[in-house]
Amino acid sequence: MKEQLKLLYELQALEQKKMRLVNQKSNIDAGEVRHLWQEICLITQDVATIREKRECLEKVCTRQQDDLAEITKQCEADENKLYSGNITKLKELEERKTKCEAKRREIAGFENEILNNMEFCDKLLADINEQEEILAKKRQEHGLGQQELVKQLAHFEQQLSELETSCRSLEKQVDNKLLLRFRDLARRLPNPVAKVENNACSACRVSIPSSQLSRGGSELLYCEHCGRLLLVD
Ligand SMILES: [Zn+2]
Repeated sequence: MKEQLKLLYELQALEQKKMRLVNQKSNIDAGEVRHLWQEICLITQDVATIREKRECLEKVCTRQQDDLAEITKQCEADENKLYSGNITKLKELEERKTKCEAKRREIAGFENEILNNMEFCDKLLADINEQEEILAKKRQEHGLGQQELVKQLAHFEQQLSELETSCRSLEKQVDNKLLLRFRDLARRLPNPVAKVENNACSACRVSIPSSQLSRGGSELLYCEHCGRLLLVD
């Protein structure tokens, strides 16, 4: 009887350990990895927006350069006419000269605008590169985090499976009726097998009468206070 109770006590300890592991497994924190993924998604969106903005601005620059070339050509043609010597009237000459000067100012302003836009394009490209670098780092971190999670889970699975095997093997060694009794008690009491330590129940600490203890060798003893099966060492 004592050997059987010892096996049950062992089974109980293993099942407790199993429960702790299941708890730990469910507490594995995937929060950090999830947070990293959200960051990656946000930065990716940002980069796409900047890229789009830069492409638009590049098109604007190209169009502006075409326009500038056209205006410059016109201006040069006007200036050629102005200095060709064919215009003899002073008033017309003055008027045309004023017009040419105004055009030159317009061209200078236009060149400035294009330059600013091109500088902004360069700045956007630098931003994109910077964000891409951050993204690469975060992707790497995320990959490692995921690997770590998978490793942790596998570790728990392995331990749980080993415990499961040990439990099954113990169950086979315990008498069926006793096992049923144990399972029945376990539905009402956590850890239904208690040891007798210093003549008291190890679970509720209430003393066991010595008259009861003396019967321990031949029959099942229960703690009269908490109802647990008693294993007398
Ligand atoms: Zn008790």
